[in-house]
Amino acid sequence: MSAPPYVRALEAAKFIMGPPSIKGIPLWRGAGLRAVQLLIEGFLALVARREEAAFAEHGFLSSAEANKEVFGSYANVYELLDVPGHPGTQFRSDNIVTSIARLQREDSAAPVVAVGSILRDAAGKTPPLFRDRNIWPVVELNQLADSDKALELLGFYATVIEDLLWSIGVPSVTVETPALASYGKTTYLTVAVLPNKRPTVLATLYILADELRVALGEQHDVIDVGFTGKLLATAAMVHVDARGLALPSTIAPVQVGVTLSAGNDQAQSAQWLEELRAGGLRCETTLAGSQGARARAEQAWHRRSVPLVIGLDRTPGAVTTCTRLPIKRTELPELPSPQAVHDLLAAGDARLAKTARRLFDSAMDEGGHLRSRCDSCAEDAGLAVFGVVVPRTPVRCERCGTTGQRLFISDEGRFY
Ligand SMILES: [Zn+2]
Repeated sequence: MSAPPYVRALEAAKFIMGPPSIKGIPLWRGAGLRAVQLLIEGFLALVARREEAAFAEHGFLSSAEANKEVFGSYANVYELLDVPGHPGTQFRSDNIVTSIARLQREDSAAPVVAVGSILRDAAGKTPPLFRDRNIWPVVELNQLADSDKALELLGFYATVIEDLLWSIGVPSVTVETPALASYGKTTYLTVAVLPNKRPTVLATLYILADELRVALGEQHDVIDVGFTGKLLATAAMVHVDARGLALPSTIAPVQVGVTLSAGNDQAQSAQWLEELRAGGLRCETTLAGSQGARARAEQAWHRRSVPLVIGLDRTPGAVTTCTRLPIKRTELPELPSPQAVHDLLAAGDARLAKTARRLFDSAMDEGGHLRSRCDSCAEDAGLAVFGVVVPRTPVRCERCGTTGQRLFISDEGRFY
């Protein structure tokens, strides 16, 4: 069975390894690792708008006993029987136990962000990055908060996640849902849509249920915000063209692919590249000696998810930019300045975001997911209310005109 298109695009872009693959355990390659790093840097920068987070990378073993005390027994966790020097361990199946212990030890009210992998058994289908056994990256933020501050803090992180998704051209909506009540006494899910217009959950945000909070030995409320590589997989599904992966420049490992020819003024192009790099642009170069090689070079840049290709290879002194979605080549009178390159990238990102926004809006529309209803009209109509859109803003009930709220409807019930 051949892999789904997004997986083939990620493989062709050298983000993950191609066949032979291990079921449920995607193996990441350099470009994918770089994109993940950029995504995490973006997340940390958004978190720091309020408060700088401590950063942690936990090992792949954790204490089975400490985990059982909090979560009880889980059938999908791998316990390890006799690892010399590590009695009573399991393959790490979560971060929160280790992160909360750290915050307690340090008596810290600041957030901690743990990044790493967790390993759980996953029976059935394992579409890479959507449902894996070895889930990487798992990014999990934890913070302790006084109970009167917790909800406001959760709201802030909901904005952080929505902004993070929008920075990679993925529109989303945050929904407060009573589902998952055993984990969160308040649960927010960040919902985006796939190209087939089905809603999917890209992040979870909780004020932890009291039972878990007590099991963690904590008096304060515990904030838990998490997302995984599924963000990138969704971006890869949404942002693609006939050439391959077309990620926004925010997370594209290479933003500018420069095709040179032997006839270039080498000193001039070297200085120009230096200026681009000094301007914060991620550039790489390749050499093309013929028209065929130039076309192949452009295709190779695009396969690798490069949003902007600049060719200095046609005739001496010629500069051609090639933007994507749609692919459009433009002759420039001179080498573009770093600012001009930033502008071209921003325009490309805006095109991606606009297309994704159109997909999201039509999915919401066709699925009838977003409705404005007062409580009684929501009940009367027998709507399958999945949750309430946050932030909660009063709206006019579509049915009776009184004050209601924005509801997220899911006729299929819970979705993932
Ligand atoms: Zn009503």
